[in-house]
Amino acid sequence: MEKARGGKMIVVSACLVGINCRYDGSSKTKPELLDLLEKKMVVPICPEQLGGLPTPRTPAKIQSGDGYDVLKSGARVIDIKGRDVTPKFIKGAIEAFNIAMLVEADKAILKDKSPSCGVNYIWDDDGLKEGKGVLTALLIDNGIKVSSGDI
Ligand code: SF4
Repeated sequence: MEKARGGKMIVVSACLVGINCRYDGSSKTKPELLDLLEKKMVVPICPEQLGGLPTPRTPAKIQSGDGYDVLKSGARVIDIKGRDVTPKFIKGAIEAFNIAMLVEADKAILKDKSPSCGVNYIWDDDGLKEGKGVLTALLIDNGIKVSSGDI
C-alpha cells in the first residue's frame, strides 16, 4: 500500500470515515478525517465486523470491567439479548491489530464510547463510564497511540 510521504499510517474506526458498519447499519462520519483518507494516511478497520459479527447487529456492552479486563481478567462482552459475544470481540480486536501491524501503523483514531473502539468512555448497565474498548486496550498494550475520534 502506498503511504503518504513523511508519515506512518494511522488506523481509524471505519464508521468515522463513512463506512456503514455500526450496530444499526449507520456511520458516524467525521469530515475532518475524510481529508486524511484522501491523502492515504489512514486505514479503516471495524473490529466487530472483523470478528465475524453481522451488520446490523445486536448492541453489546462489557460487563464488570473494560477492554483490559476482557483481555486479561475474563470480563465478558454480552449483547442486549444476553448472548456472550466475547470471542468475536477478541477475534476482531486481534484481526484489527494484525492489520495495524501489516501497515506499520503507529497511531489509531477510534470511535469513543464503543465496547471495541472506546477510548475514554464505554457503556455499561449503569450508563457511560470511563474505560477503554477491547481493541483500544490491545493497541495501547502494544505501543500504538490511540486518540478519540471525538475531535
Ligand atoms: Fe466498528 Fe468500532 Fe465503529 Fe463500532 S465503533 S462500528 S466496532 S469501527
